[in-house]
Amino acid sequence: MYDPLVDSTPGRSQPHTPSYWVDTAGAAPPDDGPVQGNHEVDVAIIGGGYTGLSSAYHLAREHGIKAVVLEANQTAWGCSGRNGSFARISGGRVPLATLVEKYGRDTARAFFAEMQQALQTTRDLIDIGEIDCDKQPDGVFKVAIKPEHVAGLKREVEMYNGLLNYPARFVDAAGVQQVHAGAESYGALNLPDGFCMHPLKLAWGIQRLAREAGAKVHPGSPVTEWTSAAGGHRLVTPGGVVTARRVIVATNGYTSRKLNPVLTGRILPVHSQIIVTRPLTAEEKVNSLPGGDCMFDTRNLLFYYRRLPDDRILFGGRSAVNGRDAENPVHRQRLLDALCRKFPVLKGVQLDYNWGGWVAVTNNSLPHCYQVSGMQNVYTGGGYAGSGVSFSIQTGKRLAQMLAGDARPTPVPFLHEAPKPFPLQSFLRVGQRMAYAWYRFKDAE
Ligand SMILES: Cc1cc2nc3c(=O)[nH]c(=O)nc-3n(C[C@H](O)[C@H](O)[C@H](O)COP(=O)(O)OP(=O)(O)OC[C@H]3O[C@@H](n4cnc5c(N)ncnc54)[C@H](O)[C@@H]3O)c2cc1C
Repeated sequence: MYDPLVDSTPGRSQPHTPSYWVDTAGAAPPDDGPVQGNHEVDVAIIGGGYTGLSSAYHLAREHGIKAVVLEANQTAWGCSGRNGSFARISGGRVPLATLVEKYGRDTARAFFAEMQQALQTTRDLIDIGEIDCDKQPDGVFKVAIKPEHVAGLKREVEMYNGLLNYPARFVDAAGVQQVHAGAESYGALNLPDGFCMHPLKLAWGIQRLAREAGAKVHPGSPVTEWTSAAGGHRLVTPGGVVTARRVIVATNGYTSRKLNPVLTGRILPVHSQIIVTRPLTAEEKVNSLPGGDCMFDTRNLLFYYRRLPDDRILFGGRSAVNGRDAENPVHRQRLLDALCRKFPVLKGVQLDYNWGGWVAVTNNSLPHCYQVSGMQNVYTGGGYAGSGVSFSIQTGKRLAQMLAGDARPTPVPFLHEAPKPFPLQSFLRVGQRMAYAWYRFKDAE
């Protein structure tokens, strides 16, 4: 499996990794084929996931700039075509209380408003493009796995209500059983906004919108070499050279160390894995997830899960530390064991799908969209820490605004600063392994 910390590029024209999403997405929309020959363009976008495709759409639709998207493999081959399918008010992974403590109440409020807008931008694109992405009714639950976690959830509810004036509520254990039967559910934080959908259909819908607006989308076009001079950026792909005046880097968790040294070391790719069961019987459904909401739990290494429209359960969480270990069946088994601990009725259930992908984590666990200093006219966005469906779409919109001349399109300072490089780069994964062991110990206590 491609490992961004080890391999030089994510390949060329690779098919999507086998998944439930690929099997149920239908036919891919038209694209512009791999780059052929040499081209001079105004804006090149490297990476064809939500960030890149949304940038291309917003540049064309709102600023009249027709960009060219260069994607190494199929569009949405990275996280955007293989995620857990929750579009919600999220971006990065920093608890509300920590945000307030570190950045103050005003910035925390402004960041929350940006995350709300991100979800709205996602809804708008689905509506404008009539994107048929199996969008489910809204409903998000953060479920307490232990009685001791209930007090923390109630404090979170108070912050949502008081600080953010947002109608989150606490649901007691009996109430939670309506949507989350089985074990490990002692109450939940309920957020009324946020929905499950089909991630690959969503990405392909944005691709269609971007092309209709005038952007070009080239799959099978990995950037294998990048040199910059006064006139612009020379991006070498196997089919030809694209010379661009301005560049958006939207490679996020799939960014290899070789793409450009200026970007190296600021994102840690962290593997997240998903299993999908066979369709459940009516009895299994009632005793596991009778509702169709987005669920995640209060673990440090949290699990996220939902019931799919054909009554399977999708269940995901953190897994391998490096690409070599990603196919190890131990990770699939760990997820299955966790699923069955939550829903004992599913003991022995058959799994029909199992896949994973690289989410992008920064040093402060927060996302970013900034102009890269030390390079001319280069912008980048990412670092969503596994919570980036809506925020990456929003970041695409913000990057388009920045390129069109608005240097700081949000009032959230940290969003527009480059994430600090991780210290002790060579030991990153050793540290990650130790952190996982500690969190697993704490979660099991
Ligand atoms: C298993 C999993 C579950 C997740 N679940 C959720 C969820 O439920 N909710 C949520 O909000 N978020 C979730 N996420 C995160 C979310 O999917 C991502 O934050 C989001 O899709 C990021 O989009 P992106 O466009 O920035 O990056 P990506 O979609 O990863 O796109 C980056 C692209 O860059 C391309 N690329 C890399 N190098 C080059 C190069 N040299 N030349 C050309 N192209 C290149 C790659 O091929 C890739 O297609 C999940 C992620 C994973 C992996």
